[in-house]
Amino acid sequence: MAEQCIFCAIVNKLAPAAIVYEDEQVLAFKDNQPMAPVHVLIIPKTHYQSLNDIDDNQVEILGNLLLHAKTIAKQLNLADNGYRLMINTGKDGGQTVPHLHVHLLGGKPHLPVQVG
Ligand code: 5GP
Ligand code: ZN
Repeated sequence: MAEQCIFCAIVNKLAPAAIVYEDEQVLAFKDNQPMAPVHVLIIPKTHYQSLNDIDDNQVEILGNLLLHAKTIAKQLNLADNGYRLMINTGKDGGQTVPHLHVHLLGGKPHLPVQVG
């Protein structure tokens, strides 16, 4: 757990969140400033600051996040109409929370491209 990290605090139940999925490795919860009718964040429970901190031998972390995003999208009835997955990385990528996360956006056409 990284000190001062809001997503680590959510993982450790030290801060509240509307959790939609949880297992040993992954947590998914609703974004508290949603940009679409459905806006869920899927995170590894382990703290990685961004995609830049994932090594070549950690590909399963990314695969796991993406497959869970797909499953959650299906459970939230987004699969037929579609959805957007997004990973903002670093300052120019619009990343505001330095804990790796995948945005799942859905529920309307012309979903926004979040710019932070
Ligand atoms: P980023 O801009 O880093 O890609 O995305 C961070 C996202 O986390 C934003 O969409 C923001 O609304 C969301 N967020 C920030 N703090 C919290 C929080 O305390 N709880 C929840 N549920 N979402 C948060
Ligand atoms: Zn963290």
